[in-house]
Amino acid sequence: MDRQQEFVLRTIEERDVRFVRLWFTDVVGTLKSVALAPAEVEAAFLEGLGFDGSSIEGLSRIYESDMLLQPDPSTFQILPWRGTEEPTSRMYCDILTPDGEPSASDTRGVLKRTLQKASGMGFTCYTSPEIEFYLLKSNKVGPAGVPEPVDFGGYFDHTPGGVVQDFRRRAVSTLEEVGISVEFSHHETGPGQNEIDLRHADALQTADNIQTFRTVVKEVAISQGIYATFMPKPFTEHAGSGMHTHFSLFEGDTNAFFEAGSEYQLSKTARHFIAGVLKHAPEFTSVTNQYINSYKRLWGGGEAPSYLSWGHNNRSALVRVPLYKPNKMQSARIEYRGIDSAANPYLAYAVILAAGLKGIEEEYPLSPAESEDIAAMTSSERRALGYSALPSSLDEAIRITEDSEFMAEILGEQVFEQFLRNKRDNWKEYRAQVTPYELHKDLGIL
Ligand code: GLU
Ligand code: MG
Ligand code: MG
Repeated sequence: MDRQQEFVLRTIEERDVRFVRLWFTDVVGTLKSVALAPAEVEAAFLEGLGFDGSSIEGLSRIYESDMLLQPDPSTFQILPWRGTEEPTSRMYCDILTPDGEPSASDTRGVLKRTLQKASGMGFTCYTSPEIEFYLLKSNKVGPAGVPEPVDFGGYFDHTPGGVVQDFRRRAVSTLEEVGISVEFSHHETGPGQNEIDLRHADALQTADNIQTFRTVVKEVAISQGIYATFMPKPFTEHAGSGMHTHFSLFEGDTNAFFEAGSEYQLSKTARHFIAGVLKHAPEFTSVTNQYINSYKRLWGGGEAPSYLSWGHNNRSALVRVPLYKPNKMQSARIEYRGIDSAANPYLAYAVILAAGLKGIEEEYPLSPAESEDIAAMTSSERRALGYSALPSSLDEAIRITEDSEFMAEILGEQVFEQFLRNKRDNWKEYRAQVTPYELHKDLGIL
């Protein structure tokens, strides 16, 4: 038993914790939970908790279904929304094989492996996500056949007396209570659309935080009689929900992306990282944008990126270098704008980081920054400037991933196969659907 494990056991005792939930994630990012009685926690630390992995999407093949959950004591938290009397707590888990080896199908493990690679190159990776989502009146569609947002506010609107202000206050304080620091929260451009930005943390902690964040936001919404959705594009005519993420690499206390006096204060390392992300983005988009609906966001306007480009403060760019603060030393970071709010954060961060690291390792050259709105250019202008596009559908994205050695290597054979199988099933199911759009066209309604 190490000191962190002892601390958890002591806290469970002192706080009279009634349930300890063990949390882990399936291949598409759904949070899974099993509640342990406090008396079982010590054994779970020592031996892991056995479960049937074959019933979890993408976790293991049927003939090797026994798996173990190994709770990570550094992630122990009391869950405030379950009340303070005999409280409920949680720990994130690593998934192990029966021999105690990390399971090749654990997506948290894929991120851990990628972070080890970064650390072997001397880097710690920090990330901060800007998470957008919609608040709806309920999980039912309204009379018009579309969901009903809770308000008609827009970007940065202060909606007096609105449910949304209460919602944000409660969501932010609950997040802080579970140890997640929030930097900003505001109304986004769409009706009922909100954004909450988390303070930077190392990438594994951020991915855990995103999983907790989704639960907190859903719980707080339920407690207010409304519904929160992280669907990438719930409304045809309003902006989608992105999960832009800022990345930086540190070598000890030094920001490896920073170089005083260079263009946008970006070091060579940062430029290679951006080049890696841009080169591999089409290959990893099936992961960062994993649903049919993700492509409605990428190709539906509303400041979502569609082309492979980077720029300083250019919101049509896939990679944006935010305004640096001349008085604040070492503030260099890059923002990846492609990823949406429904991605599995462990896989998404693993593939973006791995692409950047490959750019650094192989010293990929970086094209010039773009300051124009790329989406507003004609296709021949884009061709002349050499901009290619992100995949335009899940089908196209899957095909590119299937052919990518880079993706097979980063995800590992099992996750690669199981993820793709799940996505192919999504696509096949969708392909056979007759949509209201087609019907309405024929019936003369559109
Ligand atoms: N909602 C936009 C997107 O889907 C982003 C808007 C913004 O720049 O914050 O990416
Ligand atoms: Mg935003
Ligand atoms: Mg942003």
